[in-house]
Amino acid sequence: MGAATLHQLARRGVKVAGIDRYSPPHDLGSSHGATRITRQAVGEGTAYVPLALRSHELWRELEAERGVKLFEQCGVLIMTASATTTSHHGRPDFTRATLELAQRYGIPHEAWDGPGIRRRFPQFQVEDDALGYFEPGGGYLYPEACIQAQLNGARERGAQVFTGTTIEQVVQDGQGVLLRSAQDTWRAERVIAAAGMWSAELLGAPFTDLLRVCRQTLHWFELAEPARFPADSPCFILAHGSGDSDLFYGFPPLPGEHSVKVATEQYFNNTTPIKIDRSLHPDESSRLFSNQVERWVGGLSPRAVRSAVCAYTVTPDFGFIVDEHPTLPGVTVVSACSGHGFKHSAALGEALAQRVVEGRSAIDLSAFALKRFD
Ligand SMILES: Cc1cc2nc3c(=O)[nH]c(=O)nc-3n(C[C@H](O)[C@H](O)[C@H](O)COP(=O)(O)OP(=O)(O)OC[C@H]3O[C@@H](n4cnc5c(N)ncnc54)[C@H](O)[C@@H]3O)c2cc1C
Repeated sequence: MGAATLHQLARRGVKVAGIDRYSPPHDLGSSHGATRITRQAVGEGTAYVPLALRSHELWRELEAERGVKLFEQCGVLIMTASATTTSHHGRPDFTRATLELAQRYGIPHEAWDGPGIRRRFPQFQVEDDALGYFEPGGGYLYPEACIQAQLNGARERGAQVFTGTTIEQVVQDGQGVLLRSAQDTWRAERVIAAAGMWSAELLGAPFTDLLRVCRQTLHWFELAEPARFPADSPCFILAHGSGDSDLFYGFPPLPGEHSVKVATEQYFNNTTPIKIDRSLHPDESSRLFSNQVERWVGGLSPRAVRSAVCAYTVTPDFGFIVDEHPTLPGVTVVSACSGHGFKHSAALGEALAQRVVEGRSAIDLSAFALKRFD
């Protein structure tokens, strides 16, 4: 979120600085792990669709500007794997909600039953009464490359970037916002705070009550039968039960790799940026494989060749917060976006820059206002 905003502000000629406690792209926040799914009919709700559509345009623009590959348009397949109740990011029946949004926005897609899914993509062992939504315009992003490209573009346009610099205090002194690190102080007319899982610790109330950090893990399972994942394999989200964790998602094998990245989501155990357990336990990948993957996806071996820890920062309704800080005038807060923000970050950065420069954004961000939690 920070890199996208910095890039868009620098493009508009704003005198801007990006400040980060580490050196992005890094693997200590919420934007690492090689890939992020992007889709156009965003089942999380109507407010997200314009952001996703605009982001797709911006990723392509950024690719052309920087001469790098950022977006693989391999398609996305969203499945309810049997006739069951499901929930994803707090939305019941996510597959049907996605389908309805695609119809409303005229987003190209196909809808299949179980035999239809198995015929087109035999790696998915869904039941006959499954529902599948296939969106050829979706795919995945390379998050680290996206961040690097945005930072490079911002630097070239004059943005300053301070890395290894932790902001410890944000205060408003009537003449602007003061940002203090252990060594330095900056005065800014406006601040956009995109501190990811550190947002509550940096910004205080009401974020301390609204945001919770949930540790997540990613696992790359070796391909046992590579032929079951042909070159046109899509990203997928597969829901098979009523809980938000009765779901996993994955990616096609990356070019030159012989594994498939798969992850589920957990919202039961909260943590903090300091306490988060960054080590991986061997049974975490075997549990994901035996409890979920093995039943529904064929062609994978239980051997995880790689695993990683990441974190979601989640609001009570699994939505975004993009709003002014209620007690710090001049500070706009962008939450870490509840585990589904990366695909929208390019357009959110643009919208935030438009707000700074033009006073309003072309895309309506009112659905992400704090007042819904009053
Ligand atoms: C496992 C996993 C899978 C996901 N899958 C998807 C997906 O498929 N599709 C999708 O769209 N989204 C997905 N998401 C969500 C998406 O990745 C996040 O919403 C998004 O990347 C968050 O970006 P951010 O900029 O808010 O946070 P971060 O990238 O964590 O950035 C916050 C930055 O703030 C810096 N910072 C924090 N505090 C301070 C301070 N005090 N001073 C200075 N700097 C500070 C940090 O160093 C960090 O660089 C996933 C997330 C995870 C964890």
